[in-house]
Amino acid sequence: MSSLASYAVRVEQSRGRRYPEPAHPYRNDFQRDRDRIIHSRAFRRLEAKTQVFTRRYSDHFRNRLTHTIEVAQISRTIAAQLGLNVDLVEALALAHDIGHPPFGHAGEKALDAMMRQYGFFFDHNLHALRIVEDFELRYAAHRGLNLTFEVREGIIKHSRDYEARRFPELSEYVLDQRPPLEAQLIDATDELAYDTADLDDGYEARLLSLEQVQAKLPVFAEFFTEVEALYRDAPKKLQFNEVLRRILDRWVTDLIENTRAQVESIGRVEPDRRVYSRVNHAGEESRRPKIELEDIRRYPKRLVALSPAVETERRQTKEFLYGNLYYSSVLQPEKEDAERVITELFDLWMKHPEKLPAGYQEKTKSEPGARVVCDYIAGMTDTYIREQYEKFCGQPERASARN
Ligand code: MG
Repeated sequence: MSSLASYAVRVEQSRGRRYPEPAHPYRNDFQRDRDRIIHSRAFRRLEAKTQVFTRRYSDHFRNRLTHTIEVAQISRTIAAQLGLNVDLVEALALAHDIGHPPFGHAGEKALDAMMRQYGFFFDHNLHALRIVEDFELRYAAHRGLNLTFEVREGIIKHSRDYEARRFPELSEYVLDQRPPLEAQLIDATDELAYDTADLDDGYEARLLSLEQVQAKLPVFAEFFTEVEALYRDAPKKLQFNEVLRRILDRWVTDLIENTRAQVESIGRVEPDRRVYSRVNHAGEESRRPKIELEDIRRYPKRLVALSPAVETERRQTKEFLYGNLYYSSVLQPEKEDAERVITELFDLWMKHPEKLPAGYQEKTKSEPGARVVCDYIAGMTDTYIREQYEKFCGQPERASARN
């Protein structure tokens, strides 16, 4: 793998698996981890979990699985350009949403609110770690998928930092250090993927109009002028798509270039590992010290980022989506349904643990009831939780009944 940058994660330097395993003859450990994720039940469930739109809109819209595949595809492209470890990036991208409960962000909010009533909280990254460490049962020798340290670390740290003081159970994941660029990349790509995809699905669902997007998003308006001149007679939907692919391409290119520039600007960590010296760019290329993975890890901030100008475009797009799509009154009834289904089922199983499946009843002997109920609900697909709701709470739901 000579194309790897000096700061990339090298699979042969992996800190390894919790339970040592013999090497595979032709798949490296990160490739095996990627394959384990794809073959997991949690990965298959992504297909029946809401991203933004539930199935009642259309089968053409993204669900969490197709969103995940888009994130993996974009991440691989960027990783290859930056000389990062593409296998690790792919494994992390494919795992990045497996901890999400049913019903998208509304479901996550409702589950978190229920947990807080019992003095806990819900965090999808922590839940994803529990899935790969404990809930997936595929191997006779151990629980979980026995993934490498780097994949587990990335699952936890890809989108946020965890304070060592508050999360002693995560101490093995070197919380005082940044994750490698392979993990940092996932969060950035996730944003680019869903910002553009949600404009697409929102337009297709007729919740966003071309005029509205053009008026509110300068980046869209700029590319629309170009696209209209090129394809004057094309249907509006195709003009819309032509703009979206230009936006995504600009953002991805900027992310690659800006990240590369940021990494090159940090210089090397001095031997005492606290002070950073800037590389003298006037010096000869060959005499510049190489930036190592350790420099990325010990740098005080994350380095995968858009340039300030493009970050503004992305932020405007995200704010536009919040104001006009995610909080749209049209999607409100579904959010209320999500909240009602999760809240009522949570309450029911807390009051009647005997109605939980036998395996979960057993778990309540060694774990707090709320944690067990939360794990059970978080693992469900939209389809399965609706069935449970009808079984235990009786009435068919409003949103699904409207069709
Ligand atoms: Mg995502």
